[in-house]
Amino acid sequence: MSHIVVLGAGVIGLSSALRVQAEGHTVTIVARDFPTGSETVDAQSQINYTSPWGGAHNRLVPPTTPSEEREHAMSLRTFDHMRAVQSRQPEAGITFMKGIEYVEAPSEAYSALTEDKALKQLRMEGFRLLPSEELPQGVTWGCEYDTWCVNPMVYCSYLLRRFAILGGKVLKREVRDPREIFHLNFEAGPVDTVINASGNGFGDENMFITRGQTCLVANACPATVTRQNADGSWTFSVPRNFDGGTIIGGTKEPNNWDSKPSLEVRETLLRKFTATYPQILGSEGKFTVMKDIVGRRPTRKGGMRLEAENLDGNKRIIHAYGLGGRGYELSWGVADEVARLLAGPSSSI
Ligand SMILES: Cc1cc2nc3c(=O)[nH]c(=O)nc-3n(C[C@H](O)[C@H](O)[C@H](O)COP(=O)(O)OP(=O)(O)OC[C@H]3O[C@@H](n4cnc5c(N)ncnc54)[C@H](O)[C@@H]3O)c2cc1C
Repeated sequence: MSHIVVLGAGVIGLSSALRVQAEGHTVTIVARDFPTGSETVDAQSQINYTSPWGGAHNRLVPPTTPSEEREHAMSLRTFDHMRAVQSRQPEAGITFMKGIEYVEAPSEAYSALTEDKALKQLRMEGFRLLPSEELPQGVTWGCEYDTWCVNPMVYCSYLLRRFAILGGKVLKREVRDPREIFHLNFEAGPVDTVINASGNGFGDENMFITRGQTCLVANACPATVTRQNADGSWTFSVPRNFDGGTIIGGTKEPNNWDSKPSLEVRETLLRKFTATYPQILGSEGKFTVMKDIVGRRPTRKGGMRLEAENLDGNKRIIHAYGLGGRGYELSWGVADEVARLLAGPSSSI
């Protein structure tokens, strides 16, 4: 068995580290940012660490292409893993609840979806199409299904603790390139493979960011609710539980590097969500705003990069980055693929 370094301590690096550790390898995580209480993550200096700023919930994306089929399979794998962890370790930060989808102008992928297909083919447990009387004004298609969401920093901290108690080591360090790691000195010895879970990769020209502004409110919400508006904008809630409040979102703005939240956007997000799901206001009839959040989804033209790169001297880098807006929901599918690549024929171990 070998010494593997995972570069990155976001949800992808942490899940991959645990998965590779389970194969019996010695694993070290090297990262600039590690999970910490969400109250103390710095909104400006840690904006490029995406995992604290994610929702994060699991949503149905009806697959219509081979890459969407693959992602759907990864989301199902993650669903099963989340359910197993949640029942074994309720403190891990995972909650199972209903996911509600509202669509104003559904594409065929939605309008042609039958309950039979969703339940049997897509394995969406608890799936039900919503009759028109259950839809908010302006919505023409809706459904609900069983899903999960996490409080991101509670969940990522749990993954890190689990990794450490199973013998994993960590090194807080910024590197310029994954190859630099082969030249660092580790107690565990020389490094055979680096898993590049850096979110954005290093100089990959297909990478870009998708800015997301959301608002964290103290109001409780019993379901994750997502509305796709006819103008292409999104309205959603993601309950965080574990005293984490509820995320009300959110924008999706490719290549917008503005790190400051806009109060005008906050007002729009809250107003649109109230129109969609007025129950959120509770008995007090108002939102209790905790903070505005800006995050940068690490998005990649053509989809995530998940492949092995062989270097001279039997060294390898396994790239696992560019998860965009789906890092949490695909995390255990990605981790499985990382483990498969590690055990693959080009392996030196
Ligand atoms: C507003 C918003 C809402 C979202 N909602 C959801 C959702 O509902 N569901 C969902 O699944 N996803 C959601 N996402 C997306 C999700 O948060 C990301 O896909 C995920 O967090 C990416 O994780 P990652 O581990 O790839 O990257 P990151 O979390 O960015 O982690 C990267 C790691 O690499 C390290 N690193 C990077 N460069 C270096 C370097 N040079 N040297 C050392 N270390 C380095 C960092 O320090 C960090 O530890 C949302 C994102 C946003 C912004």
